[in-house]
Amino acid sequence: MEQITSFNPPHRILMGPGPSDVPQRILDASARPTIGHLDPEFIHLMDEIKQLLGFAFRTENRLTMPISAPGSAGMEACFVNLVEPGDKVLVCINGVFGNRMVENVNRCGGVAITVDDEWGKPVDPQKVEDALKADPEIKVLAFVHAETSTGVRSDAAALASLGKEHGCLVIADTVTALGGIDVRIDDWRIDASYAGTQKCLSCLPGVSPVTFSDEAAAKLSNRKQPVQSWFLDMNLVMAYWDDTTAQRSYHHTAPINALYALHESLIMLQEEGLEAAFARHKAMHDKLKEGLGGLGMEFLVEPEYQLPQLNLVCIPDGVDDAAVRNQLLEEYDLEIGAGLGGLAGKVWRIGLMGNSATEKNVNACVSALANIIE
Ligand SMILES: *Cc1c(COP(=O)(O)O)cnc(C)c1O
Repeated sequence: MEQITSFNPPHRILMGPGPSDVPQRILDASARPTIGHLDPEFIHLMDEIKQLLGFAFRTENRLTMPISAPGSAGMEACFVNLVEPGDKVLVCINGVFGNRMVENVNRCGGVAITVDDEWGKPVDPQKVEDALKADPEIKVLAFVHAETSTGVRSDAAALASLGKEHGCLVIADTVTALGGIDVRIDDWRIDASYAGTQKCLSCLPGVSPVTFSDEAAAKLSNRKQPVQSWFLDMNLVMAYWDDTTAQRSYHHTAPINALYALHESLIMLQEEGLEAAFARHKAMHDKLKEGLGGLGMEFLVEPEYQLPQLNLVCIPDGVDDAAVRNQLLEEYDLEIGAGLGGLAGKVWRIGLMGNSATEKNVNACVSALANIIE
């Protein structure tokens, strides 16, 4: 075999649906010396990460920590721990990730009941209320706060409140929401949520922050059957992450250096402040709208429900979707996302997540598209 040489990635501007641009400061943090996962210095870092995640999620939940795997594993952690065989789960579907939730419910042996809304529209709280009223046996309500496949924000506060009124545990996907728009786990009474590091936290992919309320923890400890996933069983994960356990024990080897990066990204969010971060995402979204509007391009989602961090832009008539995306990547080192499902070929998904939400990026994207299309 020929000698294979080191990989040197190109410098891309990441304006797709994630990952987002990782600041050098976070890359530097991840390059610090690896230490043991039970080293007292590392345990101290873990405690700080838990505190910082509580700040980002706006929660006092004791069960708040990163899962050592990407957002999809965070999703799976919520479902495998909180859904037992036979449990009825109401899943709201208005894009790709709602469908994945149904997949998870089925694989847990749960019974998924769905409320469906058109792609590009938010979850309709009225339909959710009707479904909850129609079946008092529903135990869990699950929805996606920020649907990355459609660029839509649903009303997480209203949905969670309906779930609680009807005695449900509430699971919310905040993968694309966290750090980009307001997420209030405690105020909205969300029982379980999972997020991602590579979206609005601008961190390395591969880790998923999760949080569980006391009510969710109670359900977890009163399960009739053990969680079918050994790796994601929060009862076991807690033996490693719980700071009230005098002796932390080995469960799996934490992704040490990825957690240095997460720690740094959360410090950066704390330095900027949540409100300031949300305002920056909104300001860059407005600027992108103005720039692309000037090129005659339209946004798919109604302004009221638009996610600032993920913009669905209608591809102008006669423009070749894939050719433009390829040209952006090859000539401008700029990545944007393709449409998914029924929106494939009709829209581009332009991400302004975390460190990608800068004036420089917006200008680069608008001027590159102007050059290519005009
Ligand atoms: C990206 C994303 C996920 C999955 O996260 P991965 O890190 O890719 O596994 C789940 N839900 C939503 C809304 C997402 O945007």
